[in-house]
Amino acid sequence: MRVYDVIVRKGILVDGSGAPPYRKDIGIIDDTIVKIGDLSGESAEEIINANDLFVAPGFIDIHNHSDSSIFITPTADNYVTQGVTTIVVGNCGYSPAPLTENNREFLEYSEVEFIKEVGSIPWYSFSEYLKHLEALKKSLNVVALVGHGTLRSAVLGVGDVRPSEKQLSEMSELLNEAMSAGAFGMSSGLIYVPGMFSDTYELIELAKIVSRYGGIYSTHIRNEGVGLLDAVIEAIQVGLASGVSLEISHVKAAGPPAWGSVPKVLNLIEEYVRRGYDFSADAYPYTASSTGLEALLPTWVREEGPEKMIEKLSNPNLLSKLRNFLERYGIPEEGHSDWDKIRISYSESHPEVLGRSIEEISRVWESDPVSTIAKLLIEDKGLTSVVIHTMNDEDVTKAVSHPLVAIGSDGSVMRFGKGMPHPRNYGTFPRIIARYVRELKVLSLPEAVRKMTSLPARKLGLHDRGLLRPGFKADLVVFNYYTMRDRATFENPHIYSTGVEYLLVNGKLVIREGKHTEVKPGRFLRRS
Ligand SMILES: [Zn+2]
Repeated sequence: MRVYDVIVRKGILVDGSGAPPYRKDIGIIDDTIVKIGDLSGESAEEIINANDLFVAPGFIDIHNHSDSSIFITPTADNYVTQGVTTIVVGNCGYSPAPLTENNREFLEYSEVEFIKEVGSIPWYSFSEYLKHLEALKKSLNVVALVGHGTLRSAVLGVGDVRPSEKQLSEMSELLNEAMSAGAFGMSSGLIYVPGMFSDTYELIELAKIVSRYGGIYSTHIRNEGVGLLDAVIEAIQVGLASGVSLEISHVKAAGPPAWGSVPKVLNLIEEYVRRGYDFSADAYPYTASSTGLEALLPTWVREEGPEKMIEKLSNPNLLSKLRNFLERYGIPEEGHSDWDKIRISYSESHPEVLGRSIEEISRVWESDPVSTIAKLLIEDKGLTSVVIHTMNDEDVTKAVSHPLVAIGSDGSVMRFGKGMPHPRNYGTFPRIIARYVRELKVLSLPEAVRKMTSLPARKLGLHDRGLLRPGFKADLVVFNYYTMRDRATFENPHIYSTGVEYLLVNGKLVIREGKHTEVKPGRFLRRS
């Protein structure tokens, strides 16, 4: 009689704890690891011969944006091929729920791609959204955060206003609803409309609620460039005053004036960890970032929401004011205006400019950079995206190799071949092993794996994932250490990574011999 459903035989186990690798068999029944040891006499429905392959817990992407794209591409090909078995959505202040009449326009604008596929947003409350995530058949597990910007817009709309005490308590009520429905925390995006209009007090009051549930507060801080340290200090203030478990999202120093500041940020986090606070960060292994083109513009252009912004960008007087501003101060966060460093990653109206820099496009269009930006934003209805070559290699290496920093891709599940996205969407996790373990040798393999597994699992409170242990869920990546690498580049971003030979999600094979099985055993994970 067969005891096990799956046996992974003779793999070299990198168990997620940071401990040195060891060779053992793993026995799985249903969705759970039941034995780690010598199973040479045992049989199973499925035997994976992992001789010479490494076996680790499936990678957990603590910073992901597949809030709605997971519904469009539930096989999550660009993530499972990286060895990822769990993604955390709802980051940077944005989640597609709760939806009210106050933010319907804003959410419909943000979800234009989703609506094109699905027709309309089929939920209102956060718990209804979670029910959809739960019902969806998908190839990996999903954890959800609720976005502070969405909560805020659900009560206040997207304008530059402060909430009254009554409005703040309405936001609190929506947050309570999201947390009790199973959200793992709240995220903020303090460079984006409408999160940018919140003050520290508002964030503290809401973070107190998250803290009561034992959730995390993940923040895209107010400034990642010239004002980086002020912004980190604000995040720390929120953590100290609310007692919340703080996660600084995609820690970086953007723009030459800020270069070299990442170690200062990490020292600050360490300082509070030494005092017993649960503060940490995440990072992705690239020197370029990616966001909406509009996020590069000063507040006074975008403060009244996308429609008003487009109106403003059509006004020649405003454009000349913007030109003067950018010449004088540079892009607000970055402190420079090197338009060759900013490349278009997505433009519905001008697919011919994908991968081109603002500088190059301006040359071709015989225009100036500000007019180019205005034309793109107007014709794309505000939804142009860019890749910005903005960081230095040393800061990135310091961030991704620091023991308190988990790995988060900041990307999303996507349809193969669409646009010129940031290569992080396809390569983040294999790149950690290829570049930082194998090539630069700044991380050991067990430490790299720990930062992609048990570190984020512990942060989130996923108590049965992130380690290879009997009783833990059978989320496993079986990979070839020598061929594990990212192949996606900025010039050629739609290329799957190599090296993942087998991937198990809740005990079921999603990748077998390097091929997606199209099986969808992923679950929506509720905070308990
Ligand atoms: Zn962000």
